[in-house]
Parts: sequence; structure tokens; C-alpha cells
Amino acid sequence: MAHSFLDLKSIPLTDLQKILTISQTISQNLLNPEIQRNLKSPRVLAFAFFEASTRTKLSFQLASHRLGYQNIILENASSSITKGESPKDTLFNLAAMGIDGIVVRCNDDLDLQTLSAQISVPLINAGWGKRGHPTQALLDVLTLQQKLKHKLAGQKIVFIGDVVHSRVASSHFELLHQLGLQIGVLAPESWRPAKPSNLKIFADRDQALEWCNVAYVLRVQFERHDHQKNNFDSKNYFSQFGLTLEALNQANPSALVMHPGPINHGIEFEEKLLGDPRCLVYQQVRNGVSVREAVLSYVFGEF
Ligand code: ASP
Repeated sequence: MAHSFLDLKSIPLTDLQKILTISQTISQNLLNPEIQRNLKSPRVLAFAFFEASTRTKLSFQLASHRLGYQNIILENASSSITKGESPKDTLFNLAAMGIDGIVVRCNDDLDLQTLSAQISVPLINAGWGKRGHPTQALLDVLTLQQKLKHKLAGQKIVFIGDVVHSRVASSHFELLHQLGLQIGVLAPESWRPAKPSNLKIFADRDQALEWCNVAYVLRVQFERHDHQKNNFDSKNYFSQFGLTLEALNQANPSALVMHPGPINHGIEFEEKLLGDPRCLVYQQVRNGVSVREAVLSYVFGEF
């Protein structure tokens, strides 16, 4: 039976591990056009992205396409959202068309949990306000498993930057401890989580880098800040919290580097890092397709 996929904490760890195993198998054949997964039942997925997206939206579409599903895409700019229709009404209307599921990205105002009990088709979280981005956390874990040969327990990962506004961090906080990782946070005081139990808090970039095996840089989420971008001193932020090649080389040359994208170059991340072999950003992006294919199969009970 199909069911919604909204967060990681309510999914048994064994199921998440199964998703990761299937994702790994898919990732091994990802670039082989001859090999597509067996299409058990063609489905129609609706894509309702009320917030901007590049990687998540396109990789979900590609994953869906690889499974032989059809996609219908809500184009915000030409939809009735511009006439004031609410995202909630939009979702009910999409479900009424006889589709099989809705991949949704929205802000915190929409209560996907409650809606999932009212709407007749599964909702798949593709980024929900600050609350969570479960497929991002899974694709990050898959990337680490590949890089670290599945030795995740005991690894130390530090999340750097705008942690409090990050749904990516929220989902990781639901998953990484279960997998035995230690989690650190390096952030300005006002961007640290309110309840930092189980998290090691750093104020100094070099100390955080020395401590970790993985430096996970987060985008500064300007769109979720009350104040305007021009109140933000990006130069000062970059000098304290930005990840640079030099800082990495000095503090911890063996640390891996991750970022969920999109990147604010020169604000949280030095562009040069992208070409560094320690930087896993494009591997993360590629794994997005495999993980989303596995998650869609899971949602529709196909494995
Ligand atoms: N792409 C990720 C998200 O949608 C990260 C980000 O936007 O900063 O949450």
C-alpha cells in the first residue's frame, strides 16, 4: 500500500537502510541507459513545488521518468496560485485528478502531516520549510557510505552555518545519530539549534574543522530571515564561518566537504573547493537521482 514520505524519524531504520541499499544498486547503473528498473505499474506523479528548486525537482523528475511514471508539473507562474489559490487547495485539486502521488515542496505554513491524512494520495516531501528534507539527508548518507566504505559509525560531521533555518540539517538530526555518527554545529549564536542536546557546539571554525571528518556547509537561507540581505555582513560571515581551501588545508586536510546546493559562493563557501577531490558536491547531486528513485519505489510499495 502506498503511503506518504514526510520525515525520517517515523520510518523504521531498517526501511531506511533498505532504501539506501536499493539506492546504491541503482547508482551503480545510473549512467547505463540500457538498464532501467523493471516497470511494475505505470503511475502519474504530480509535482507541486511552491518554493524554488533545481536539484530536487529535476532529480525527482528524472527518477520518476526512469521508473516509467508520467509527471505532471504545476507551473507556479501560470497556475491559479497567481489568482490567490492556496497551496492546500491546490494539493486537494491535484489529488482529485486521479493521480498516484504528489511530490511537494512548501513552506512551514502547510501542515503536510495533517494533509497526508486527508488527501487520498501519498505526499512525498521534497523540502518542507525548515522542518525537513528527508531525501537530501538520505542522498548525503549514501554519498558518505560510498566514500567511507560504509564505515559511518563513529564518524564526526559538523554542520556549518545557518543551521536553525535549514531543513537539510533538521533531517540529518533525525537520522545521523541512529547511524552512529557524532554531530557538531558551527554557527553564529542566533543560528544554532534551540535544543542542542546530542550536538557538539563550536564557535571557532578551526576547532570545528579539526574535530570533524566531514564538513557539511549549509547555505545561508536569506529567504527565511526576517531582516533583509543587505543587513547581513557577508564579508565578516565568510571570514568566520565560510569554508575555504586554506582553512581546510590548515585545520584538517583529510576532512570531506559537502554542501546541499545551491551554493552562495564567497558567503559560506569558496568556489575553488568545488574542484577539490575532498569535495563531494557533484556526487551528492548524482546520488539524488538514485535515492529518489528508491524512495518512490518505497512509497508505492514496489520493493
Ligand atoms: N536545496 C536545499 C533545500 O532545498 C538546500 C538549500 O536550499 O539551502 O533545502
